[in-house]
Amino acid sequence: VKELGKPERAVVTTCAYCGVGCTFRAEMKGEQLVRMVPWKDGKANRGHSCVKGRFAWGYANHKDRITQPMIRDSIDQPWRAVSWDEALTFTAERLQAIKAQHGARALGGITSSRCTNEEAYLVQKLVRGGFGSNNVDTCARVCHSPTGYGLKTTFGTSAGTQDFDSVMQADVILVIGANPTDAHPVFASRMKRRLRQGAKLIVIDPRRIDLVRSPHIAAAHHLPLQPGTNVAVLTAMAHVIVTERLADEAFIRERCDWDEYQDWARYVADERHSPEFLEAVTKVPAAELRGAARLFATGGNGAIYYGLGVTEHSQGSSTVMAIANLAMATGNIGRPGVGVNPLRGQNNVQGSCDMGSFPHELSGYRHISDDAARALFEQDWGVALDPEPGLRIPNMLDAAIDGSFRAIYIQGEDILQSDPNTHHVAAGLAAMDCVIVHDLFLNETANYAHVFLPGSTFLEKDGTFTNAERRIQPVRKVMEPANGPKGQGLADWEVTQALANAMGLGWHYTHPSAILDEIARLTPTFAGVSWDRLCAEGSLQWPVNEQFPDGAPIMHVDGFVRGKGKFVVTEYVPTDEKTGPRFPLLLTTGRILSQYNVGAQTRRTANVAWHEEDVLEMHPTDAENRGLDTGDWARLASRTGETTLRVLVTDRVAPGVVYTTFHHPTTQANVVTTDYSDWATNCPEYKVTAVQVTPSNGP
Ligand code: SF4
Repeated sequence: VKELGKPERAVVTTCAYCGVGCTFRAEMKGEQLVRMVPWKDGKANRGHSCVKGRFAWGYANHKDRITQPMIRDSIDQPWRAVSWDEALTFTAERLQAIKAQHGARALGGITSSRCTNEEAYLVQKLVRGGFGSNNVDTCARVCHSPTGYGLKTTFGTSAGTQDFDSVMQADVILVIGANPTDAHPVFASRMKRRLRQGAKLIVIDPRRIDLVRSPHIAAAHHLPLQPGTNVAVLTAMAHVIVTERLADEAFIRERCDWDEYQDWARYVADERHSPEFLEAVTKVPAAELRGAARLFATGGNGAIYYGLGVTEHSQGSSTVMAIANLAMATGNIGRPGVGVNPLRGQNNVQGSCDMGSFPHELSGYRHISDDAARALFEQDWGVALDPEPGLRIPNMLDAAIDGSFRAIYIQGEDILQSDPNTHHVAAGLAAMDCVIVHDLFLNETANYAHVFLPGSTFLEKDGTFTNAERRIQPVRKVMEPANGPKGQGLADWEVTQALANAMGLGWHYTHPSAILDEIARLTPTFAGVSWDRLCAEGSLQWPVNEQFPDGAPIMHVDGFVRGKGKFVVTEYVPTDEKTGPRFPLLLTTGRILSQYNVGAQTRRTANVAWHEEDVLEMHPTDAENRGLDTGDWARLASRTGETTLRVLVTDRVAPGVVYTTFHHPTTQANVVTTDYSDWATNCPEYKVTAVQVTPSNGP
């Protein structure tokens, strides 16, 4: 501030990194952003922030930003910079030619969890109403799609049950498959405050995460399970709760389907599901499993928080339902201090899912085969919609290799770096006739693109994001979009609209508020939401409608959205990814505080602290057995691929388990991850890969 001078104006907007959704005051001098100050009235952050939101915004002015559209006839040709008109005409003609030759189902798109609700909504509208297929998916496919499936099945809606404030009334906090300190830092601070006040902690994670090691927090139980055994751990805990008669039968009788509960209780009570029997599978001592179960059932308000360590498994959806079972069995739903709370990774992954980004669901999670819901959209949009669910991302790639899927519009997502089995993704993209990448930078996926449409940052547009607690918050334009001469740049929603109009659709939105009005008109959970109301009130937590005119910080208070809560028997099924003599270790992945996902933004900030590399965490015994020490290069190989990275020897991981992050394209950690995925949603099994680690001379 001192160097750049006193700010001349300020705009309150919302962070574009994680699902906490911190609000900031963006202070400007002329067209230059001077600093981001955490906003004291932000309901998600209350004046707090982490390093990413506060300092990692320099990518907006980075020299790597692509500021002009580019096209090429084939991916072996150099890019040609062209005008927006030429790029959009080229793209529309290609898409229409493919549609005419191969049919509507040969086209599809991917919405972005980094973009606004309004932008995600428009991309799925373009795919359904313009391309004519339901081949639309979102990056939630590779993170929280099992949350959508699991919570909708058990509770009736695909979202977390609580607001963040609720944690301050929890007596027992169960964290499973999440590392909030690194991935959701501002919420983690609130959780730690409650733990310092005396709430008990249960951590179920293969790594000794920061919460377990934090001073002044005594982790009551750390269950360092074998990666891939979440369902077995939760089943063992359920066994204790049922057989020791710790279940809240009054709650279950009143709020849940009693017959389904009895079926579930009989299943978990079987001796084969006891902690002693499952200890060999989970590698967690039976006494710890018993102790954790007793504490959760009897310790007062029990709140469950989980992350991608739950969902990114072949049993991701089963694990989400097992968590829901545990919460219902102990009566921990429908009041402050309890609940089932997915910690959503990306700033707007909740929103992109809410907006109809899945191939089987319209906005508000209504199935595409629901005639009444579809008719509503058909009437409003003036087009006929395909009643058949479309393809998910991995199925689009498979179909591309088979020749039946030919074109894709990808907004704000680098699937080559972020999706599993990089070689397979590359083969799918290379097989398509038209790949349209709409992004800030020439990302890895753009190597396979025919059209590059330059995107806009969150600082360059109006719109809304929805955070992990279903809180819809305004995103406000701070500066002009840099993807064009001054005053001629386009926000991402304007680019999608221009493409739709190049295809003859005749859209005429003049501001995201008009898109939000349409969303509210067509989506019962958003019925009471408007731009003016959000600006006046700061935020609203959906559902906002006649039943909940001011929103709903806590869901399922008087009854579950689906009526009676549904217990689902979740059988533990070992993953097909097995260790053996050739690949004796299990790799699991995650992220660090200063980097964000594939690092496209955080790697392009000025602060050198951001430029750490991906490292491989290894237990001292495993490292010594291989002659490796901290700082040595190692070759990490799996059945699908290999990469090279430096070793960090640490007892944070258990023997037999190694861990890395996926922030850097030079490492490309996902070349080793497999094609195994969640049985219900195809969410990739990033968290379990059998690997071998050997010394290397470097890349
Ligand atoms: Fe942004 Fe998340 Fe950090 Fe808040 S906690 S500043 S939303 S990255």
